[in-house]
Amino acid sequence: MLDGEYYYTCICGSPDHTLRFILDLDPEYPTLYTEIMMSHYQPWYKRVHIGIKYMFGMDTVDHYGCWEIKHEDVDKMIELLTRLKNVKKKEN
Ligand SMILES: [Zn+2]
Repeated sequence: MLDGEYYYTCICGSPDHTLRFILDLDPEYPTLYTEIMMSHYQPWYKRVHIGIKYMFGMDTVDHYGCWEIKHEDVDKMIELLTRLKNVKKKEN
């Protein structure tokens, strides 16, 4: 029972720093999925090179994105988490 998607842009305003939360209020498995948008700032041939290195375990650099919540989004985030917390989880 997906409840919807909620987007949070970073305090810096970059579209590359956007988090998407997907709220699932299914009583059997209530959860909140999180995804971060990844930018394709490298030319295609460099991305292929990185992909090949990753496939063979040669990619030794971890890739992290960052995101910083806007103060005005804190209440929105609390409301989202409260909705998840208040799901009456079905016991198996
Ligand atoms: Zn940012």
